[in-house]
Amino acid sequence: MTTSTRPIYLDYNATTPVDPRVLDQMLPWFTEQFGNAASRTHLYGWEAEEAVAKARRQVAGILGASEKEIAFTSGATEANNLAIKGAYEANRHRGSHFVTVATEHKAVLDTFKHLEGWGAEVTYLVPAADGLVSIEQVAEALRPDTVLVSVMYANNEIGVIQPVAEIGKLCRERGVLFHTDATQAVGKVPVDVDKDYIDLLSLSAHKLYGPKGAGALYVRKGIKLTAQQDGGRHERGLRSGTLNVPGIVGLGKACEVAGAEMALEAKRLAQLRDKLENEIVSTINNTQVNGNREHRLPQVTNISIGDVDGEQLLMNLNRIAVSSGSACTSASVEPSYVLKALGVPDDLAYASIRFSLGRFSTETDIATAVAHVQEVVTRMVENHTS
Ligand SMILES: *Cc1c(COP(=O)(O)O)cnc(C)c1O
Repeated sequence: MTTSTRPIYLDYNATTPVDPRVLDQMLPWFTEQFGNAASRTHLYGWEAEEAVAKARRQVAGILGASEKEIAFTSGATEANNLAIKGAYEANRHRGSHFVTVATEHKAVLDTFKHLEGWGAEVTYLVPAADGLVSIEQVAEALRPDTVLVSVMYANNEIGVIQPVAEIGKLCRERGVLFHTDATQAVGKVPVDVDKDYIDLLSLSAHKLYGPKGAGALYVRKGIKLTAQQDGGRHERGLRSGTLNVPGIVGLGKACEVAGAEMALEAKRLAQLRDKLENEIVSTINNTQVNGNREHRLPQVTNISIGDVDGEQLLMNLNRIAVSSGSACTSASVEPSYVLKALGVPDDLAYASIRFSLGRFSTETDIATAVAHVQEVVTRMVENHTS
């Protein structure tokens, strides 16, 4: 396929391309500067160690953290596993009750399922119809034996931003650890581990214009976690394994660029997103925007189109690359568990589309995408009723 016939990419919440400025920084670390950051006896190792140290400062910088509080991982899935399982193992003496939300990413939900197998008790909060959990819900769920609360910063499917600072403050007051999967938030909206009372935070490079296979866990000073991977005691014993130096360098640079450009980028993308959303909602019958529209990431909208079959719709929208929360198993298509948790009826959940814009989205992309959606839906509605 030539570039001109490839669909317009509007699936930045699934993954982002690597920013050329990020790639540029990464390249030497694959070839001339290929050293092992744990090699303490020669220049190759020292260079790599220094590059990792710089990246650690860059990642800490975007979170308002200290570089000693950053542990590099292979991504957010691993960071979530380490935070949750590591807290469970390190806190058996305190209890084994955990609190999370039904709309979390599978990397969190499935980790808690695993903990339940180990004997933990997990409370799954169901958010309101707009996707938000309330501070009262969290307060009610806390028990004397609660070890940790895990609430994602921003939802990947609908973009809603949870009241993280309030939840974090409550947890701090109650002596409960607070973890947030901030994979969709870091680099998109300001995140500050102190102002938000965060103890543990997961992030991933490939959601913010860095490479796939690199991420980090922020661990507040003084918090003990049990390592989930044993070996050479890299990352202060928290995560053994030879460091992915090019990936880490890329993550660091991605954080630096995002930190510098976030405010302007968010403004530009919010305008484009609003345009896309308003034009679809105002010209197509029976649509609904899923999730709170105010407390939301700037670059995403999740829209259900009531008059058409969801599976057909996604197949027909072949000029844009978007996603639907529907998960295809071999036997059937299941509607998004996130939308179901919000109480969205099945037919509307099936017919939901997530548009997620990003750094390289243009006005033309959005105009073309809107026209394409309008044309496809009109054709489907006509065929259906004739
Ligand atoms: C993408 C994503 C993950 C998984 O991140 P990986 O680095 O791909 O493992 C976890 N949580 C959220 C909210 C995500 O969007």
